[in-house]
Amino acid sequence: MRWTEHQLAMLREMGVRLWQTQAEAPAPERDAAPAVDAAVGEAMDAPVAVPRGAVATLDWPSLRDAVAACTACTLCKSRRQTVFGVGNQRAHWMIVGEAPGEQEDRQGEPFVGKSGQLLDNMLRAIGVTRGEAADPAHQVYIANTLKCRPPGNRNPQPEELAACEAFLIRQVQLLQPRIILAMGAFAVQSLLRSTDPVGKLRGRVHRYQGVPLIVTYHPAYLLRNLVDKAKAWDDLCLAVETARNGA
Ligand code: URA
Repeated sequence: MRWTEHQLAMLREMGVRLWQTQAEAPAPERDAAPAVDAAVGEAMDAPVAVPRGAVATLDWPSLRDAVAACTACTLCKSRRQTVFGVGNQRAHWMIVGEAPGEQEDRQGEPFVGKSGQLLDNMLRAIGVTRGEAADPAHQVYIANTLKCRPPGNRNPQPEELAACEAFLIRQVQLLQPRIILAMGAFAVQSLLRSTDPVGKLRGRVHRYQGVPLIVTYHPAYLLRNLVDKAKAWDDLCLAVETARNGA
């Protein structure tokens, strides 16, 4: 595969430099993949999570209704609306972020602010979209660990993550993605039950409910730490490779 002009622009946006001319460039998934060596395939399984009670049997429409009506934690008092998730429900890719911010709380869709723009650019670089695409292999479903905005964009609290967890578990069960990208510390905490830093967990394939899961930096972090964009690109390449191999 050769880079298109558009993909090259996206790579520049992510701070990734290509030294070869396009004609010389080897296949990107091999060239750009991080040095994961034996780590791929030595998947670390997260404990299997089971949604509580009735949530475990809900279909997509009733799950969305249940989220909209949720009063399980105090965030329901300050939210404008819940932010359920976006994307094709047959998408092969799933992204799990942290929690809605101000723009997401206004618009009811995850990742629509500045970090969302970066996320869309990153996804475009690997040919994946939250919008329409001919093939679910090129589509992503995006959800957050919390469905309500924490006031002032403060960090999610453990009791809020616990109260919201069943919804995310059910989203994964219904979607049955081929690959999950966990973005940032709170996605990692929720999905992998790990408080290890993202930097320690990235670069290898984990598993969540049997689905390969790649840990990477949150786009908001990348906006503040430009040097780590290249590592995030490595993570995306590992995700592409893992999704392709059906690891
Ligand atoms: N950050 C997130 O983690 N999720 C959003 O939806 C927006 C910003």
